[in-house]
Amino acid sequence: MIEFEYQALPWNIVFGVGSLSRLPEELEKLGLKRALVLTTPNQVADGKNVVGLLKGLAAGLFDQCVMHVPQYTVIAATERAKEVDADCTVALGGGSTTGLGKALAVQAGLPNIVIPTSYAGSEMTNIWAITDEGRKVTDRNNAAVPTLTLYDPELTLTLPPKFAAASGLNAMAQAVVNVATDKINPIVSCLAVDAVKSLYASLPVIMERPDDIQARSKALYGACLAGGALGTGATSLHHRICHTMGGTFNMPHAETHAVILPHSVAYNAAATPEGSARLAAAMGADNAAAAIYNLMQKLGLPLGLKDLGFKETDLDQAVAVTLEKPFHNAEPVTAHRLRALLQNAYEGLPPQAIA
Ligand code: NAD
Repeated sequence: MIEFEYQALPWNIVFGVGSLSRLPEELEKLGLKRALVLTTPNQVADGKNVVGLLKGLAAGLFDQCVMHVPQYTVIAATERAKEVDADCTVALGGGSTTGLGKALAVQAGLPNIVIPTSYAGSEMTNIWAITDEGRKVTDRNNAAVPTLTLYDPELTLTLPPKFAAASGLNAMAQAVVNVATDKINPIVSCLAVDAVKSLYASLPVIMERPDDIQARSKALYGACLAGGALGTGATSLHHRICHTMGGTFNMPHAETHAVILPHSVAYNAAATPEGSARLAAAMGADNAAAAIYNLMQKLGLPLGLKDLGFKETDLDQAVAVTLEKPFHNAEPVTAHRLRALLQNAYEGLPPQAIA
């Protein structure tokens, strides 16, 4: 029997190589005239290019986006938007930059245009977050969904392969949790399965041939679908752990998702037989968790939290923070079992079921 509920999000997408050049006309179509361009200090040159491309439609540049959207950046960018009388933001960058655009959309009512340059997939979700005093607070609000997302795979050519691999695994996580789940949603899982297939096929090619625009396009498309799955689907243990790691321990977002993913999939495997089998099949494998771990090895990604600088002495606190608030997960989560999962992830061991 098929039974489900589904709520779409108001996505407005332009996807294609070279589509950045369409930004001024797309802004005009939306009636927007004074864009504050957002970016990180790393991508300031690209941010300036966008300002140049927009000519009179650019109101200014804010180049201080940082990971996990700290409250102080929201305050500073809001002030800057007021100073330059901006009527929208154009966020050019990864999930951190998109995140600031989303925060300004929700809190300051500024329409947000997003030009993703990593595979974070945030532009396809209504999830927004701000980090303050060691806690990352997230919520869902459709006001955070970009007014327009413009995907130009050419902009991802500068994404270093190592980070592309980690970012691709971050995208994969968004899809994976919506395939290997006890609450299968048929529409969301269509997006998610195709996302897994696209990312699984393209990431190894990017590692071998970073300039392969077809592989870059396929990975960005996979990230778009994966973000769509997260945006219209659900999260569970995996995202709760990564949320703790980012908000409380300031761990690198994409790499942490990659390390945790095989372990969270193995943890839920017994409780999600149908979804786990479908996930494994999408990767041409028998065991989904092992296939993800093998992919990470193939991509040369760090396998353990210890490789990312996490301190073993912080594992108990990570368990406590993760369990602070209740959340849904297919397999019941206890402190003892979560501690065992995190120990394995810390060591970078092959994923295994945890009794
Ligand atoms: P990031 O945005 O922090 O980017 C990491 C670094 O890579 C930055 O310095 C950035 O400027 C640089 N970079 C990005 N694209 C580049 C490119 N093409 N070339 C060269 N450098 C480039 O990292 P991320 O992994 O993309 O995003 C992580 C953030 O996104 C986290 O804060 C996470 O919480 C958030 N996120 C949110 C959602 C959501 O639905 N709300 C989903 C996924 C991620």
